[in-house]
Amino acid sequence: MTKIGLEIHCQLTKLESKLFCSCKANYRKFEPNHNICPVCMGLPGSLPRLNQKAVESAASIAMALSCETPDKIAFFRKNYFYPDLPKNFQITQLNVYGDMSVGGEGYVNVENKKIKIRRIQLEEDPGRIIYEGASERTKITLIDYNRAGTPLVEIVTDPDFESPRQVRIFLNILSDLLENLGVAEPGLEGAMRADGNVSIEGGNKVEIKNIGSFHDLEKALHFEITRQQSLFERDIEIAQETRHWDDRRKITVSSRSKEEDQDYRYFLENDIPWVKIDQSTRDTLKENMPESISSKKDRYVEKFDIAPQVAEIIASDRYYSKLFENSYSDSNAKDIANLITTDVIGFIDTKEKQQNSKITSQHLSDLIDAMNSKTITRNSAKVALQEIMKTGKDTKIVLNELDLGQVSDSSEIENIISQIFEEEKQAVIDAKERPETVNFLVGKVMQKTKGKADPVKTLELIKSNLGQ
Ligand SMILES: [Zn+2]
Repeated sequence: MTKIGLEIHCQLTKLESKLFCSCKANYRKFEPNHNICPVCMGLPGSLPRLNQKAVESAASIAMALSCETPDKIAFFRKNYFYPDLPKNFQITQLNVYGDMSVGGEGYVNVENKKIKIRRIQLEEDPGRIIYEGASERTKITLIDYNRAGTPLVEIVTDPDFESPRQVRIFLNILSDLLENLGVAEPGLEGAMRADGNVSIEGGNKVEIKNIGSFHDLEKALHFEITRQQSLFERDIEIAQETRHWDDRRKITVSSRSKEEDQDYRYFLENDIPWVKIDQSTRDTLKENMPESISSKKDRYVEKFDIAPQVAEIIASDRYYSKLFENSYSDSNAKDIANLITTDVIGFIDTKEKQQNSKITSQHLSDLIDAMNSKTITRNSAKVALQEIMKTGKDTKIVLNELDLGQVSDSSEIENIISQIFEEEKQAVIDAKERPETVNFLVGKVMQKTKGKADPVKTLELIKSNLGQ
């Protein structure tokens, strides 16, 4: 069995300042090394001052992910030496003497599976290393510390994912949730990054780092699962290690054996006092939070009598829920929800496609009206949707242009049925003997009419032709 866990880093880009100084959290607009100060550079004698707003943002993320938040949180030093880390330690959180990080024990539902959130911690982002030069010999390394100290939330899941697909759905839900909370802009380059760990058949865990985008993460996970399966089949032990995703060659490459926590010599950051998160802070944060996915889901189920699975899919995706909320009327809500989860979702299954899609709520309402008035079949609606997605043309125009009007005229359908009966003599004999095979003939009529025949009428007419 495949087990995948994630570590997601998300910058709190909506904050004004960095985590421990007053340099700007939005470092992107600065010339290299122009958004720095003695604190984020870790100069001797400088002291960090915690950004209270960052704690609040991190706590609301924890709440939105149904996590527990302790009454007091603490910060730790994670010691390691690397050029992008001017202090030689990162200020982060750790649950070593009980729960001290801003959140834990939460969950997100992905297609009826509970993905557990193990821990959420608030920490500082390191600087950026940029490699330039045409070849290994001429390569130079540049360091930009503008990013050093940017508030970052790390979200760690249990290894509850069984496939890269579930990972993709989870990340879509998570980035919507963060955007919705107004604390982050996951679409900004480098603002949301994810590392994965993979194990198969109860074997060792392999971490994959250095993944540029969610799209690459999915590819890296696929590659890693296949690599481990091939080792497993040949009885070769899978080493516990960290591997890097090589974007150019599209493979994972072994980089080092994994550090254990003790290698980082964690100790309490005594320059920052423990932070209390009292009940009134929690209450205020809760009051100011937008509607959660689960309450949205409950609202859809109660108000419109939509199946819980359908409501969950729509509520957990910002694009679908917006499309839904803007298009329903009390009478067609259920139909709209079904159209989204059966057809729209099939064409528009990535964030990119969502951004490029030209489908509006009006289109969905119009298609449902056309189906309910039997002007078009469900099949034709599907064809129309694909065209609308690309062109954004008015529904009526698309139905006309593609000649998608439903054939419900009995004599016209009768004509086609008699042609089919001529062509499919054996199937006619079969259907007479075994009525359950009649769908084959219905399918043939649909094929001939390009899905435009009224399916109910077609079945009725075929049955009466068969003498049933
Ligand atoms: Zn600074």
